[in-house]
Order: sequence, then C-alpha cells, then structure tokens
Amino acid sequence: MTKMTVIGASGAELPEAFTGRHLINGDWQDSADGATFDRVSPSHGVTVSTSAKGGKAETEAAIAAARAAFDDGAWRESPGKDRAALLNKVADLIDRERERIAVLEVLESGKPIAQARGEIEGAADLWRYAASLARMVHGESHNNLGPDMLGVVLKEPIGVAGIITPWNFPFLIVSQKLPFALAAGCTAVIKPSEMTPSTTVILGELLIEAGIPAGVVNIVLGYGDPVGALISTDPRVDMVSFTGSTAVGKKIVESAAGTLKKVSLELGGKNPQVIFPDADLDAAADAIVFGVYFNMGECCNSGSRIIVHQDVADGLLAKVTSLSEKVPFGDPMDERTQVGAIISDAHQQKIDSYVQEAKRAGAKVLMGGEALNVEGLDGRFYGPTVVADVTPDMAIAKEEVFGPVLSVLTFSDEDEAIALANNAAYGLSAGVWSRDIHTCLNFSRKVQAGTVWTNTWMDGFAEMPFGGVKESGQGRELGRYGLEEYLEVKTIQLRVARGRANWVRDS
Ligand code: NAD
Repeated sequence: MTKMTVIGASGAELPEAFTGRHLINGDWQDSADGATFDRVSPSHGVTVSTSAKGGKAETEAAIAAARAAFDDGAWRESPGKDRAALLNKVADLIDRERERIAVLEVLESGKPIAQARGEIEGAADLWRYAASLARMVHGESHNNLGPDMLGVVLKEPIGVAGIITPWNFPFLIVSQKLPFALAAGCTAVIKPSEMTPSTTVILGELLIEAGIPAGVVNIVLGYGDPVGALISTDPRVDMVSFTGSTAVGKKIVESAAGTLKKVSLELGGKNPQVIFPDADLDAAADAIVFGVYFNMGECCNSGSRIIVHQDVADGLLAKVTSLSEKVPFGDPMDERTQVGAIISDAHQQKIDSYVQEAKRAGAKVLMGGEALNVEGLDGRFYGPTVVADVTPDMAIAKEEVFGPVLSVLTFSDEDEAIALANNAAYGLSAGVWSRDIHTCLNFSRKVQAGTVWTNTWMDGFAEMPFGGVKESGQGRELGRYGLEEYLEVKTIQLRVARGRANWVRDS
C-alpha cells in the first residue's frame, strides 16, 4: 500500500443543521408545496442543511421580482457611488462572518477548513474590487465624425442576470459574478448548486443587512431541473452567467436559444502543464502537487495533465510522488488537512473508474488509485493518485476526472509538447515550466487556453480576467472584463448642427 499522510477525525464540534429558504423580493420563503431537500456532509456523514426545494412557482416569482426591480429603475439608475458603498459593506460583513461561512462550506463541500477561510477572504476582496468598478462604468465619445456630428457610446446594465453556480467553490464563484452584476446595475436571480446551497443563503442575509433593495437579488434553492432550466428559458431573464460542467453548459445554450439571451459560460478543463528539461524541477513538482490535489482535484483549473520531457520524467515523478506522500488528507475540519472529502459517492466512483480504465489500457498507477477510509469519519476519501505511462488516446488524458488524480505523458520536442497540450476539447488554462523566456513565450502564444501560467500555477487576482476557449466556455470573469459581461452597448448619434443633407430631393 502507498505511503500517505492521513489526518483522522479531529473531533471538531459541528454546528446544528442549517435551514435555507428562498429569497424572493426581499422575503425569505418556503416552497409553495413545502418541499425540502437535505445535504449530508461528504466528510462527516451528518445532515448539514435542509433547504426549500424550488419549483416553477418560486422560480417564476423570483424572476418576476428581479424583472420588476430592474424595470423600476431605482437600482440601475442609482449612482455608482451608492452601489459601491453597498458592495463594500457586503465585503465587511463577509469578513465578519468568515468563520460561519467557512465551516458550512467545509461541511457541504468537503474542502479543508484552512482553504475555505482563504476562499471567503478572497471573496470579500472580489466584492471590494467590484465596488471600485461600480464607479468606473463609462462608455466613450467620438469627436471625429465631422463638424456637425457627435457620437456617444453608453454602457448600460444588461438587465436581469440569471446566475447558476456549481458545488466546488460555492461562495467564491457566486462572488465572481454577483458583485460585478450589481456594480453594472443589473438585478439577479441566483441558483446555487443543490449540493452546496447554504453559503449563498448566508450571502443573501448579508445583502439584506447591507441594505440591498427588495427584488434586486433573489435566490432560488433547488435542482438544475426545474430551477436552472426555467431561469435559462424565461424571456424575462436577459442573460445567464453559468459556471459548471461543459455538458450542462451546452444544455443552457440550447435553453437560451429560444429567447437569444446572452450566455456567459465558465466550464470544465483538462489543463496541461508542460515541463521542459531546463525547468526548476523542485518548483515544478511542488506546483504540480498543489495543482492536482488542491480542492481534492475538484477544480476547473486542476493541473491534471502533466506533459514532461522524456529526459527529466523519472526525476520529476520521483519528486512528485515523494511530495504526494506528504500531503495531509483527511478530516477537512482539521487545520492541518490540505485534501478533504470527495463531494459524493457517485463522483468518487467516477474518479475511480477513470483510474481503473487507464490501468486496463496499460497506464501505470505509481501511487494511490483507491478510495480510503479515514478513521473516525463517515466520509468519502480518495488517495492522492499518480498515473504514469498515459497515452494521448486514453480517456484519462482527455477528459476531466475532477479528482486528486494526476495523468503523466511525455514528449521529446517542443512542437510535440504544444500539440499534446492542445490535444483536448477544453481550453481553460495551461502552464509551462522552463528557465528560457523564449520557450515560455512561444508556448504561451501557441497554447489554446484562456490563462497561461509560466513557472507558476493557479495564481489568481481580482484584476486579471479569467475564462476559457474551446469547450471551456465563453466570456470572461474578473478584471474589467468581468464587469463588461453585464453591460450592454448603446450607440447615440447626435447631429449638433443643421448640416444633414435632405434625403428627399426637391423635384
Ligand atoms: P454541473 O454542471 O453539474 O452543475 C452546475 C449547476 O448547474 C448546478 O447549480 C446545477 O444544479 C445546475 N444545472 C444542472 N442541470 C441544469 C440545467 N439543465 N439547466 C440549468 N442549470 C442546471 O456542475 P457541477 O458538478 O456542480 O460542477 C463541476 C463542474 O463545474 C466541472 O465540470 C468544473 O470544471 C466546472 N467548473 C468550472 C469553473 C470555471 O470557472 N471554468 C469553475 C468551477 C467549476
């Protein structure tokens, strides 16, 4: 059996089960039919939350409230300064509630507590950054169209934004969308994942405390079908901002086609890291281990596909496996834990089936490759796993495993490395490791990805746009681009003197 560092049950005291209700037009509401659903912690096996289960009635009421709040004009026409003040207040309240949000996030998602705290702090930073953008919404003027013409381009809020989020970074991802939508002057209907609904409900509480007007932000809890599907189809919703799987992203595009609403998609990835022979292998090994085990590998940015030069492959893999043995995994409520629990039984089986299939196809499992019990916990855990001798045709080389599983391929020259990196339907992010700036730049320019990390992995900044190409999505979040997603362009052409030539000629 592989050596691993396992953290057993910490005995941390768990909070009472959370009760979540829909936020519709400023009121907390149960479902009309009283339906609810429970979330059982993937790490502790206890019920973490009971949430109202939304149906047609709740979704339509939430959409109607967001529509009315937008059309009323008070929010969209409010000065950017006032919207910024509200967003800053929400950021302060997030800081105040950091521990409560982090603990619920751990228990619903399985992620480690130290990481969850960092994510909540990162989310507060996004609210502050979006607040700064709220004061910077502006268009452009054209003063070169001739002496009697002035052109003005206005940026206007797009309208009602439907926001649909996944379970892997629930609070962070809603914070990559909602504050930017609000900064632009949009109103919103949010549907969090049915696996992790509760921290979005806490965000709703904080928004109310900060003074958000009724109807500007609405939250409907429940499943993709019907809630997400109704949001994507309804003509009263002007755009959908979705983060989740590529399969569901495609369904949303189909649902949105009927009304041609704008769709912004942050989808899956099969992100390559290419390691050239002149790279700092110690730095690369640490980043590889971080890139693949962070958030249990349940990460769109997981650096799950290593493409290493054949001359340094053995040395790099020895370093990677040695570091993998040291990564503490186990009880996510323990401060020391860096890899927590897998989101569900079904997902754990999916991860394992990729590893077993690769083994059957001739790949070599250097470590891990099995589900594990952590003493004292009723949870799902999958050990850090390194799979070598992977070939480009194997599913594990092309598809998103979304677990703590590293696939290793080798290359012999630069062109082959770039071709291998681009050999996936996805194009979210990519990495290159080399001490030669020309090698790094050549790779960065030729790789098909929305983000390229050179000699690093998964750094992120509120200022830097993020998103994918190919089947990893469309549109961008963060940076100024994150605001632009929620803005529409209006062209105004002003004739400023009586210079217009008559179209109808005198006969
Ligand atoms: P998912 O696609 O299963 O679900 C995402 C959300 O969509 C959930 O709220 C779900 O209820 C909802 N949904 C399901 N069916 C729907 C439908 N027919 N119409 C509308 N909404 C529907 O994704 P997941 O399993 O929650 O998350 C994991 C996926 O998310 C991975 O593929 C991952 O790569 C991706 N992801 C991408 C990014 C990014 O920024 N690119 C970030 C995080 C996660």
